[in-house]
Amino acid sequence: MNNLNQKKTKNNRLYIELNNEVVALQCTSCKFIKIKEDFHKTKKHFAGISTICKKCNNEKVKEFYRKKRKLEKKNEVEA
Ligand SMILES: [Zn+2]
Repeated sequence: MNNLNQKKTKNNRLYIELNNEVVALQCTSCKFIKIKEDFHKTKKHFAGISTICKKCNNEKVKEFYRKKRKLEKKNEVEA
């Protein structure tokens, strides 16, 4: 029998535990509950899993480079 539990971290983040192992958790950005394979691994965070999913992380990286490019362009104009 599978022992599936829905729980919450101290930060009020939902996650799903199966036989005492985290199998899925909520993305703090899009708020969807996704399987842990949809998250990057990081030692800093709960269960060694990133707080945002790979999709949201990609968006953030893209946004970062977009802003960076804009800034670089601006600097070129002013220089
Ligand atoms: Zn997400």
